[in-house]
Amino acid sequence: MTAARDGEGSADGPLVERIGHDGASPEGSNSTYVLPERGLVVDPGPPGERAWETLTAGLRAVGLPLEGVETVAVTHWHADHAGSAPRLADEADAELYLHADDAPLVGQYAEARRERLDRDARRLREWGVPRTTVDAITAADEPSPMPPECPVRSVADGDEVGGGEVLHTPGHTSGHLALAVGDALFLGDAVLPTYTPNVGGSDTRTENALGTYLDTLDRLADHVDGDGAEAGGLRPYPGHGPSVDLPARIEAIRSHHADRIRNAVATLPGPDSPDHGATPWAVARDLFGEMREIHAKMGAGEAAAHLAFAADLGLAERVGSAPDRYLRTAREPSDEELARAVGESRYR
Ligand SMILES: [Zn+2]
Repeated sequence: MTAARDGEGSADGPLVERIGHDGASPEGSNSTYVLPERGLVVDPGPPGERAWETLTAGLRAVGLPLEGVETVAVTHWHADHAGSAPRLADEADAELYLHADDAPLVGQYAEARRERLDRDARRLREWGVPRTTVDAITAADEPSPMPPECPVRSVADGDEVGGGEVLHTPGHTSGHLALAVGDALFLGDAVLPTYTPNVGGSDTRTENALGTYLDTLDRLADHVDGDGAEAGGLRPYPGHGPSVDLPARIEAIRSHHADRIRNAVATLPGPDSPDHGATPWAVARDLFGEMREIHAKMGAGEAAAHLAFAADLGLAERVGSAPDRYLRTAREPSDEELARAVGESRYR
């Protein structure tokens, strides 16, 4: 059990403390942020006893006793962020907030999980994932130790939570939110310091997952014109790890997606090919190699999201559905065209 502390605050911004959950996620140490003066906790972290020990020891260390917690804000429904939120809200007698689109996945956890498993399996088959692989993905999806139901308050873009403002930042999940409190911006998994957040597989409800996510990057970029971790006067706090250079990461993630669109299209059969196109799963296998369980779901979703986006750009053509099949078109994208496509809003 560790409770890493690196509290900071600017002259006029709120004091922000971080509790790090070691080894809780393949994306790196999950970050719980605590604003002791406001009784606010953002992303309490994973479920289970060990994480609960880390969370409560961390709260004691930063001088916020359980009974002082008034507001629990969760950036998105994934268990490594939301898992301890119901217990924290219950034991602290605090209000728990999620964006309306993600609220049911925590508030009606058991029922929403059953629906999600059905939806995930259906989507995976649409993406051309073989039935045995789909069954293995479903079997590997362990239930989280979370209550089947709990009270959650649904919020929308622009709403106030814990004295801060909710920004709807969909893409990684449909109801992902960022929270701006004074000059602190809590990002969840919208932008991460090292990984590129998954789009497509991380929430199978999201249509136009890549376009939606790129719009979110545009929106976050609008908040931070300038360089460095304190660009635009904001201090960004990512959902994994302690800090992120937001403008630099937004640029890196955009160019990552431009490369991935180009690479995904390059694996497709050409327009004159006699075969019936390639499924997102076939493209994912070409791009990522052998994948199992959660990685198979994330990989197939990534490929599907990039192919759908490429089709909107006229670089690929969808020639079949259930399973989806794509061919390359005759048009070669220029670097400039791809940079524009990932750097400018197309769905707003
Ligand atoms: Zn996540």
